[in-house]
Amino acid sequence: MTGWQARAACRDADPELFFPPTDDDTSLIAARHKMAVAPICSRCQVSTDCLRWALDTGQEHGLWAATTPTDRRAIRRGRLAGVPDSVADAEPMCPACSLLFALPAVDGDLCTRCQERRAA
Ligand code: SF4
Repeated sequence: MTGWQARAACRDADPELFFPPTDDDTSLIAARHKMAVAPICSRCQVSTDCLRWALDTGQEHGLWAATTPTDRRAIRRGRLAGVPDSVADAEPMCPACSLLFALPAVDGDLCTRCQERRAA
């Protein structure tokens, strides 16, 4: 468990709430799950970290920061189109990988992952 996960508002919640038993985001059951987790995520102090993690690791299932897989694909399409997400991309992003894997820049330079790639 990483640092932000230890502070998650959902750490004591039923994990099944966050994983609807269907991949159809438009289904009634998926909507019910989203409505159930929204109040938990809205009071979560690490929701931005959670959303970034889900985006950066390409999570294809589950509700992360109350976003569905379809929501996250829309955010990634927005990034590709040069439209940053107001929450996930609020901080300066690494200029080398900001389109698909928007990691926070380190002092305005490349993210640690790109710094390692450059050094290799
Ligand atoms: S934003 Fe929601 S899913 Fe993410 S850690 Fe917080 S409570 Fe859990």
